[in-house]
Amino acid sequence: MDERGDTVVYRLGQDCDLDDLEEGKIYEGVVQGFANFGIFVQLNNRLRGLVHKSNVMSQHRERDPVLVEVLEIRSNGNIDLRETVCDAYQISEVVKKRTTTSISDLGSRIGRYVHIDGEIAQIKQTSGPTIFTLVDESGTLNAAAFVEAGVRAYPEVGIGDIVSAAGEIMQRNNQLQLEVKSLSRLEGADVLRVRDKIEQALDERSEPPEVPFLIRSDLLERLKPEMRKVARYIRRAVFTAQPIILRHHADADGISAAVAIEQAVTALIRENGADFDGEYYLFKRAPSKAPFYEIEDITRDLDFALKDRVRFGQKLPLIIQMDNGSTEEDEPALMRAQVYGLQVVVVDHHHPDEVVDKYLVAHVNPYHAGGDFGMTAGMLGTEIARMINPSVEENIRHLPAVAAVGDRSEAEERGRYLDLVKETCPEEWCMKIALALDYQQFWLRFNDGREIIKDILNLNGDPELHRNLVNLLVEGAERAIEMQVEAVMPHIEARSLPNGAWLFQIDVEMFAHRFTFPPPGKTSGEVHDRLCQKYKGDPVVTIGFGPDFAVLRSRGVLMNIPVMVRELRDEIAGGGVTGGGHLVVGSIKFLEGMREEVLKGLTEKIGEAPIEE
Ligand code: MN
Repeated sequence: MDERGDTVVYRLGQDCDLDDLEEGKIYEGVVQGFANFGIFVQLNNRLRGLVHKSNVMSQHRERDPVLVEVLEIRSNGNIDLRETVCDAYQISEVVKKRTTTSISDLGSRIGRYVHIDGEIAQIKQTSGPTIFTLVDESGTLNAAAFVEAGVRAYPEVGIGDIVSAAGEIMQRNNQLQLEVKSLSRLEGADVLRVRDKIEQALDERSEPPEVPFLIRSDLLERLKPEMRKVARYIRRAVFTAQPIILRHHADADGISAAVAIEQAVTALIRENGADFDGEYYLFKRAPSKAPFYEIEDITRDLDFALKDRVRFGQKLPLIIQMDNGSTEEDEPALMRAQVYGLQVVVVDHHHPDEVVDKYLVAHVNPYHAGGDFGMTAGMLGTEIARMINPSVEENIRHLPAVAAVGDRSEAEERGRYLDLVKETCPEEWCMKIALALDYQQFWLRFNDGREIIKDILNLNGDPELHRNLVNLLVEGAERAIEMQVEAVMPHIEARSLPNGAWLFQIDVEMFAHRFTFPPPGKTSGEVHDRLCQKYKGDPVVTIGFGPDFAVLRSRGVLMNIPVMVRELRDEIAGGGVTGGGHLVVGSIKFLEGMREEVLKGLTEKIGEAPIEE
């Protein structure tokens, strides 16, 4: 041992931890206890190590001061020491390095004492500890603080505060968690520094990766900036533990669009260190009853969101509308969302009304870029899902094809998406999946049926179950459709319109089975398909009506249903006409007592519409 006085012996401050200890250096210690295999030496209140008996140099009693060299700091936090004898040396005080650790670096620091600066994204009071969700520039972490069972720890700390948290990193149910020893709000310049760092990093992390589209499409290229914007909002919500509510039209296209996003988001939540209640805790998919965001939907969404904010300390959600959300019928619900400052993004292919845009932070719609409804929500949703999280691509490649056949897309993209999966999911099978989705959703009513839907879409890794289920559902759906059509066909009234189109009308309330599959819209569609077959080459319009509604289908007649609805509303005073949809497929509502006038007006307009060449 070096006998000169320039040997340095280190003395650890009381708050020093493993990070302040270095292998090969000599430290002051105190004998703490004896075992058969050696002696335990305390280095400060927090750290103690073991001198193996082969490395003990002299006899000791408890509390004896001793010099030790650190041989090794093991990954489990154990410290191996060797006793050192040294007569002349200098003491160097070690003060705690106040270094913060990034959340993404915590995996290698299990069992260590760490400091983390971050923003409080969520505060959940359990029957045991209070769980704070921390977000920093690199990730998300749950931090458990305990004062007394069920009592809120650090009540002075709230959502959105920038804090410094310290404690030990533990592994709980495969997830890292901070056992909080101290938690305090940062003040002044520190707040700005940390917030800026987080914001800047979040901006970078939220930026979607550059992935080429699955198919070649000029329209998609034109829509790309807005699609990336939607992806950015969704990624940011995941990284900041903001809840997401995904509302969508309850048909095969809307479901495909929404499930693509669901796959991307839940995988991203898992990759980002899932919430301790699982990846579905912050993500909810909910089919909408109407083909728009109804007041009933926003009321329910707000009710839950506001209660969750109080009960679980959650942020208010990001609302995503898919295959819905772009027409003036959405406005009343969007106004409610705006009062509460909710962010709403829309991905839709219904003919958009400009009025909605003032309520939205992003709006993808093919009509904004010279396209039409043939670019379905399921196509857009799948491409956006790949921007959110490219790792899910393999699972969702077939969803645009299902959406294309489900919505009867005639866009050039239809064939390309079908081509992409012709080996694994040929067109005929896509059609079966689409029908199975519609049929199943009818019985699910307005539940998401998450796992059943995943089975239908072959997302649960059980292809045999997928095949059996789709075949069974298709069988059931086809039988029900056959029965319905058989009952309805004899009651169809046919007439020829001035523009040369055939008009077929059926009272689906009086002459169809009610409250079963297929519902009136689908029934009219099926009847329309058969009439189109029968009157091959002729322009055909089919109206299925009930006491206060009518659903329209057309072929070869250039109608604009949203415009016709607006005109009827203005022309028929007291008709109470509302509705909309696509240009040639849509629905209209009116007052029951005004049915005759409305249907008469509607028929006149259809009779004036130009015929496709
Ligand atoms: Mn659609």
